[in-house]
Amino acid sequence: MQDAIILGGGISGLTAAYLAQQKGLDVSVIEKAPQPGGPISSCKEEGYLFERGPNSLLLPDPWVESFIEELGLKGQLQETNPVAHKRYIVKNGCPVAVPASPLQAIFTPLFSLKGKLGFLLEPFRKQISERAAKTETVASFVQRRMGRDFLDYAIDPFVSGVYAGDPHKLILEHAFPLMRGFERDGGSIIRGAIQYKKKRKREGTAYKKRSISFEEGLGVLPKTIARKLGNRLWLNSEAVAVNRVDEAWQVTWKRDGENFEGFAKSLLVCIPSHATKRIAWSKGISEPLKASPNLEYPPVHSLALGFRRDQIEHPLDGFGVLVPSKESPTVLGVLFSSSLYAGRAPDGHCLLTVMIGGIRHRELAALDPDKLLQIALRDLRSLLGLKGDPAYYHCSSWPKAIPQYTRDFGAWKDTLRSLEDEFSGLHFGGNSIDGIAMGASILSGKRLAAAISPSS
Ligand SMILES: Cc1cc2nc3c(=O)[nH]c(=O)nc-3n(C[C@H](O)[C@H](O)[C@H](O)COP(=O)(O)OP(=O)(O)OC[C@H]3O[C@@H](n4cnc5c(N)ncnc54)[C@H](O)[C@@H]3O)c2cc1C
Repeated sequence: MQDAIILGGGISGLTAAYLAQQKGLDVSVIEKAPQPGGPISSCKEEGYLFERGPNSLLLPDPWVESFIEELGLKGQLQETNPVAHKRYIVKNGCPVAVPASPLQAIFTPLFSLKGKLGFLLEPFRKQISERAAKTETVASFVQRRMGRDFLDYAIDPFVSGVYAGDPHKLILEHAFPLMRGFERDGGSIIRGAIQYKKKRKREGTAYKKRSISFEEGLGVLPKTIARKLGNRLWLNSEAVAVNRVDEAWQVTWKRDGENFEGFAKSLLVCIPSHATKRIAWSKGISEPLKASPNLEYPPVHSLALGFRRDQIEHPLDGFGVLVPSKESPTVLGVLFSSSLYAGRAPDGHCLLTVMIGGIRHRELAALDPDKLLQIALRDLRSLLGLKGDPAYYHCSSWPKAIPQYTRDFGAWKDTLRSLEDEFSGLHFGGNSIDGIAMGASILSGKRLAAAISPSS
């Protein structure tokens, strides 16, 4: 019997497996796709290096940095170009720089005078009851504390950029727990953020989060871990059934039409919630999972577009541009990928990554790559002064991209936690429960690895 079987070879499952293996534990990873990493996958074609899924890893704490070093990837690590600090949001059809200082905030055309005053009053606004705050949406929270303008032209596009989601549906406590903590502990976002910063400094845990990638793109991270796991990583293998047999977990998976079976003391489940619900679970587990709500995963298309640099009027001096839902462009946002990291486009060219779809435009899920290209080009012409056609184009489609931490998420999480309490050795992780950023999934893997106990 193995120490653990891990369902899902995304970054959470891979991290858990690697750390467990380092501790001398015997583990296997069962991954449905032909390659590891879930959406984390980089491609090099015609001199362009682009990401099919995530573009940047925001390092959440020093441990993730040391993990990268341990994997031997420190030499390949790329910091974002300093221009990345500048971010644009569309207002009245034009990209406007997000203010980076109090002086810029006074003069920015992004917010009205009323909006700016609303922001200044934030520390003096009253809190709502603890009970109401638990189910408050991101939109309601932001509007209550900072006003409508801030919701429409800061948080709404930000939520689109991170979750491809709707701030009116995401629950603050689940989607942005830190922000909720600022109000709860400090009485206001601004006061809470200052207190939090001071506390971390006092405790010696202050850490400046930074976005990074690698010279070969983010895909090198899952690939490196996969190499280290060797034949303990089963690719093209879909977990189809899980049974509790005595004190062990019996897992059945399908590969090339053939059934395989394994037994382990611990079972780590790092697959999306819809995949977890599709598995045939033994009695006692299948019923609560069936009764729990379905998390929504909206579709997202990620378009990599290469142009000659002189085809675009905009200086591309920033991270990218996000589109508020009030504005007319269809795209969710555009990343200035070749401005962020070196080596993304041939000399004299640039690489843009356009995100389309999300909760806002679910109807675009079924469009073919040519139609999506037409939408992207139309928006790039008006937003960035693009002329002509792309020198390079690749479309990556994610029909179920990112789980939405809406009201249903609370019930889903409660179900998983109570199953973990009831069944020893059963642990759930990954982005269907532990946070949707890559960094959160890596930390989820770390948490899961620590939960495995040896089988003998
Ligand atoms: C387009 C896009 C852009 C993103 N951009 C960013 C970004 O810039 N920065 C950032 O931090 N995050 C970003 N994210 C989010 C981030 O990539 C994910 O949240 C993170 O990679 C999730 O890792 P995970 O291991 O939790 O889950 P996943 O990567 O989803 O891994 C789950 C794995 O389980 C496998 N699986 C499913 N069913 C079964 C089964 N029955 N048996 C076996 N295996 C199964 C799947 O094939 C998958 O590989 C983005 C996501 C997408 C889709």
